[in-house]
Parts: sequence; C-alpha cells; structure tokens
Amino acid sequence: MNPQSFSFELFPPRTPEGATRLPAIVGKLAAVKPAFFSVTYGAGGSDQDGTYETVVRVVNDTGIEAAPHLTCVGSTRAKIAALLDRYKAAGVKRIVALRGDLPATAVSSEAPGEFGYANELVEFIRATHGRDFQVEVAAYPEMHPQATSADADLAAFKRKAEAGADAAITQYFFNADAYFDFADRCAKANLKLPIVPGIMPITNHAQLTRFSAACGAEIPRWIRLRLELLKDDKAALLDFGTEVITRLCETLLKGGVPGLHFYTLNQSEPTLRLWRNLGLRR
Ligand code: FAD
Repeated sequence: MNPQSFSFELFPPRTPEGATRLPAIVGKLAAVKPAFFSVTYGAGGSDQDGTYETVVRVVNDTGIEAAPHLTCVGSTRAKIAALLDRYKAAGVKRIVALRGDLPATAVSSEAPGEFGYANELVEFIRATHGRDFQVEVAAYPEMHPQATSADADLAAFKRKAEAGADAAITQYFFNADAYFDFADRCAKANLKLPIVPGIMPITNHAQLTRFSAACGAEIPRWIRLRLELLKDDKAALLDFGTEVITRLCETLLKGGVPGLHFYTLNQSEPTLRLWRNLGLRR
C-alpha cells in the first residue's frame, strides 16, 4: 500500500504585497515536509505566468515538488502543448489537469476552445508527453454543480481515469459520508486510482459562503449557523473551524483515505494548526 500523501495548494499571488508575503508562508508550510505543493491556474488567463513563476519559485526555495494546475477551457492544443513543454523543461513532474470553470459569458454548457472536458486534456497530455507527468484530476463527492446527475458525473470521472489520470483530488466538503459514498461508487465502477480529499480550513465566513455557493460544496446548517454567530470574532471562528475540520480529517484518516490535500489559501497557520492537531508527520 502506498504511504498517505499530504499536500498543500497555493494560488499565484495577486498583489505585490501577496508576492512579498508568500515566500515566508511557503517556508513555514515546507518545514513540515508535504509530499508536494500545487499551484492554481486562472481559467481567465490572468495568472497563467503567475502559476509558472510560483511553481519555479517554490521548487527553488524549498526543494519540494510543485505541481501546476492546468485548465484547458478556452485554450487550444498548440497553447497547451507549449505550456507542457515549458513545464517539462522546468523539471515539473506532476500536473493537476482540469477543464476550468466556464466563463460567465458562456451561452451554453459547452466549453469554448478546442477542449470540451478535462478527460480530453488528460488524453492530450498522455498523447503528447507519455508518462512524463503524474496527472491528477478533480473529483466531486457532492457532484460537480453542472453535472446532470451523480451517475453522469461518475461517468465523467471514469473517463478521466481511463484517459490516464494517476490520482484525483476532491472538491472540498464538510460531510465525510459524501466522500465515503463517492469512494464506494468509484470502487464499484472498478476505479482504482487514489482519491485524495481536498480540505478547506475554515477561516472566513463570507469567503467560505461565496466559494461554497460557486463550487457546489454544502455547508451543513449547524456549521453555517455557528459561523454566522462567530463571523465578527476572528479568533473564535478560527478555533471553531479548526475543531470542525480536525474532526472531519480524523474521520477521513480513520476511514483509510490515501492522503489529504489542504487548500491553504496562501495562509500557513490555519493549515498548520490542522496538521499539528492531526499529528501528521512524514
Ligand atoms: P470536467 O471533469 O471536464 O467536468 C466538468 C463538468 O462536465 C462536470 O459537470 C462533468 O460531469 C461534466 N462532463 C464531463 N464530461 C462530460 C461529457 N462528455 N458530456 C457531458 N458532461 C460532461 N479551476 C480553475 O480555474 N483553476 C484551478 O487551478 C482549479 N483547481 C482545482 C483543483 C481541484 C482539486 C478542484 C476539485 C477543482 C479545481 N478547479 C480549478 C475548479 C474546476 O476547474 C471546476 O470545477 C470546473 O468547472 C470543472 O473542472 P473539471 O476538471 O472537474 O472538469
């Protein structure tokens, strides 16, 4: 059995202040020796160079592997091929391959550009670069918000696995049963790739509500009500959030998950508090 993998997600800094702060944050996160960092990629094209630069900087500063996220929505085969070549030349060994969110201006559910869905991107990576990259894809225990049914979403996930994905990282969720049910359905569909839960630390009521509405993650009523009560008391909200997410992670770890991928939101302390509570070591 493979050892569990614990990894951290970053986004490319959006402001000069964010860029100044990031190396210290990455340094603190790197000190606990995660399996890898991943760096998000803006589907709108705003931070595509930022992803590359952040990946290279993290590897140079920490010596820890960093995986760029790569979205294909609105892109072309030629552009994706050029990016893959650039990453390969920089020594990148792992890619998180995604469709990306459809632009708000999209008139139908069809993705603009030469790729329709993430499975086509995975196929393209394998066709052009063989096994040069470990390919991670996204999974949705609570169903992707645009999927027509849970079965259709599972079929879409299966296509990504069959196209050559090595592992998956899930959208965040607060209900462990959603993950275990999804993992059971994958096992019944004979999908053997590791499905690592994505873990969102709770640090900010407004931001979490906004993200969750956009990505289809359900905030259970009892958590929502507590967050509304605590929204103006930053420290109490963080304590409550840490307790809730620690318990979620404990349940997942007891249930035998292949690892945890923390959405750090470019903050070290909320994730490191979880890490310490869980006694994670590598
Ligand atoms: P897909 O797997 O292509 O699925 C998209 C939708 O299409 C699903 O509803 C699926 O059921 C459906 N579908 C798939 N194939 C078909 C088909 N053949 N016919 C009909 N329907 C189909 N977004 C970013 O912009 N940048 C990031 O860096 C980023 N990182 C992420 C990291 C993780 C771990 C996760 C979970 C999500 C991330 N996202 C990111 C968000 C992601 O891009 C969106 O959720 C996007 O809407 C779907 O991407 P996907 O790769 O899951 O798409």
